[in-house]
Amino acid sequence: MNPKVIVANWKMNKSFEEAEDLISEIAEAIDQWTLQTQVVICPPFPYLELGSDHADESQFSCGAQNCSEFDNGAYTGEVSAEMLEGLEVDFCIVGHSERRAYFNETNVQIAKKIDQLLKRTIIPIVCCGEKLEERNNNNHFDIVKSQIEETLFHLDNDMMENVIIAYEPIWAIGTGVNATPAQAQEMHAFIRSLIEKKYGTQIAYNLPILYGGSCNPMNALELFTQNDIDGGLIGGASLKAENFLSIIEAAETVIKEN
Ligand code: PEP
Repeated sequence: MNPKVIVANWKMNKSFEEAEDLISEIAEAIDQWTLQTQVVICPPFPYLELGSDHADESQFSCGAQNCSEFDNGAYTGEVSAEMLEGLEVDFCIVGHSERRAYFNETNVQIAKKIDQLLKRTIIPIVCCGEKLEERNNNNHFDIVKSQIEETLFHLDNDMMENVIIAYEPIWAIGTGVNATPAQAQEMHAFIRSLIEKKYGTQIAYNLPILYGGSCNPMNALELFTQNDIDGGLIGGASLKAENFLSIIEAAETVIKEN
């Protein structure tokens, strides 16, 4: 079983003052624990400096929610991996389904973003997942397979060791309907088998595969006890310290029981 990784995806939420309060509340709580879980908080871009300053003195790491596929240059409104590195950001979500849906991000662009991040030693948290219609048509394995292959399979072994995958079925994101632990486990095991075929057992075993989609304090423990679920990417439930801390506690419980 891999160490648990719990990632907060705040999306485009919180005022600056609210962000300060939420980060402080989480940091103060987890700093009293002997934490084994890797906790990552991904606030919006304008709060990254706030996040990484707190992360310096706390047991969590700071992550971004996106980065540019390009090097620095004339790309108005974009934020490069080099800029994230300058802010001491250690992780970055890429290929979230909201970016694929609203900003037409493709697997090819996501692959370039992953390259940019790895060049800067920032760990990409690479999202994949199917639409409800694709699951209903029994296409969910094919869809996830092509997302994994097209975004990641150009990487060599050394690069692949620095990647996190998040399986997020689109029908479960923000809906209150999570994948059942059995559905999530089935897909996670499938993803791990793809990685194993291409990169071997050790890389596949060590690669954290997170579940995302309506994960909350009520369902976290059962999800995290599945063999191939190595933690969670948490949206809505990361916006309240109490909920996010309960999810971290669920991960800690699973680590202690193993
Ligand atoms: C997400 O968008 O990454 C996510 C998992 O959202 P939620 O937890 O709100 O479903």
